[in-house]
Amino acid sequence: MNLRFLVDSMHGYVAKWLRIMGYDTVYLNHVEDNDAIKLASDGRILVTSDAELAKTAEARGVQVVLIKGLNEEEALRLLTEKFDLSLREDSLRCTVCNGELEAISLEEAARTIEVIPKGISKFWRCKECGKIYWRGSHWKNISRQISSLTRFKHG
Ligand SMILES: [Zn+2]
Repeated sequence: MNLRFLVDSMHGYVAKWLRIMGYDTVYLNHVEDNDAIKLASDGRILVTSDAELAKTAEARGVQVVLIKGLNEEEALRLLTEKFDLSLREDSLRCTVCNGELEAISLEEAARTIEVIPKGISKFWRCKECGKIYWRGSHWKNISRQISSLTRFKHG
């Protein structure tokens, strides 16, 4: 299933991690409730800690996850369990703008970034903003975080 999310401005951490895992995630920044609901009505799941917004959205047929009282990590874990989320290698997203990432060659990457990181041969580019991604040393922490999120999923 192609899950898509709409995350309110209080939860930048959650939005960032949903994108890292490859889920199409719109991050709301200072948007009126009505506009938020409009955005969600194309089938996005609204993630918010605003009970008022949650209530209004639900009444208008939007699927809502209310994450009141949870810290960001707990909220992310809740979503992971609820929707059976995992790293989607075939659909990576830009953490900055939510654009789709496309695989590019080393030569192409070298045209944009000054220093090619040692030992890295796989690169991706955001189709929207052009940001180049690769899995360097920080990726170890990211994948550890994702597996800790998904470890207890089926337990
Ligand atoms: Zn981007």
